[in-house]
Amino acid sequence: MASWETLVVGRPNVGERERLMRRLDGVLDRLWLTNNGPLVREFEERIARVAGTRHAVATCNATTGIQIAARAAGIRPGDEVIVPSFTWVATAHALEWIGIVPVFCDVDEATANADPEHVARLIGPRTRGILAVHVFGRPCEVDELTRLADEHGLVLLFDAAHALGCTYRGKPVGGFGTAEIFSFHATKFVNSVEGGVIVTDDDAYAARVRALRNQGIDPAGRIAGPGTVARMNEFCAAMGLTSLDAIDTIVTANRRNHAVYEEHLAGVPGVTVRGQLPGERANHQYLVIEVEQARAGISRETVLEDLLRYDVHARRYFSPICHQVEPYRSAPERHVPLPLPRAEALASRVLSLPTGPTVEPDDVAAICRVIRDSVSRAGRRLVA
Ligand SMILES: *Cc1c(COP(=O)(O)O)cnc(C)c1O
Repeated sequence: MASWETLVVGRPNVGERERLMRRLDGVLDRLWLTNNGPLVREFEERIARVAGTRHAVATCNATTGIQIAARAAGIRPGDEVIVPSFTWVATAHALEWIGIVPVFCDVDEATANADPEHVARLIGPRTRGILAVHVFGRPCEVDELTRLADEHGLVLLFDAAHALGCTYRGKPVGGFGTAEIFSFHATKFVNSVEGGVIVTDDDAYAARVRALRNQGIDPAGRIAGPGTVARMNEFCAAMGLTSLDAIDTIVTANRRNHAVYEEHLAGVPGVTVRGQLPGERANHQYLVIEVEQARAGISRETVLEDLLRYDVHARRYFSPICHQVEPYRSAPERHVPLPLPRAEALASRVLSLPTGPTVEPDDVAAICRVIRDSVSRAGRRLVA
């Protein structure tokens, strides 16, 4: 069994410490700490290869990456962008913070992703774009959303924070829409401590993104307009490269854990393990179960508390969801024009469980035993 500290969701994957130290030594030897250093460029090249795109631009985090991606696509303050409510709040906050109005759509409960039909119903005169999310690394309905965006002349962006290394119809996530944004936050399965990368195939767009990231300075070194500072530094790139070196090991462990969870939770009434798109490559960075109270006899909250008693730190990912928190909750006329019953129902059932290379099959079996016992105790109470 792993020690209790490891049974948490989102434990950082460092990779080989020796490699990290060698890279950090190199940074200190060069004294090139930031401003498009060699490790940042290497990280960008390697992410572009994983994503199969012409360009990759590293940023200080994905939240700022989303803002830059939206600005570079011409989305202005006051414009509306349709976003699924079932996502991490950063997707919405990134836009709201720069005056772009997130308008929330409902999801397909089976995929947890934006429902294109619901997106279509929300398109209005102020809609400028769609920011869809590949939730839990499961690619969204890319073809349908692309068709909708083309038909209505909308910008299509993807928050790909969960989906590095995943495929949709055999093609890597990264090359869809105008741009996709990855996150390399410490809790993501590949991490650069803090970091993001914007990937795109559009040369002119990539040049705008690079300028916006760096005070508006264009490739010729001129100040072409306003910009922000969203550069990744060399220390973060050293971590990112070292974590990326270990991606195959991490994904193998995640996939193994997913199979063990499925095996040990099979037949537990009201508890299901969320799956990935059949026939596609997935990173399995999140292990998400759904607890359906009517069948399990206990709520998701009870499962969470029972796990905590054994020092297993599960997380309610995602709950509450975007439209249930401020400032969106208090301004439904602006952000929630239609009810979102499916996103709300899903949010009430999900629970993220520990996975990753430090979580052993024995740990998974022990976690599943706790869940199984909670549910069967509830069953006995029902019978009694
Ligand atoms: C983590 C995450 C983000 C934000 O990433 P940061 O790098 O922390 O800014 C955005 N969207 C989703 C879906 C995420 O999970």
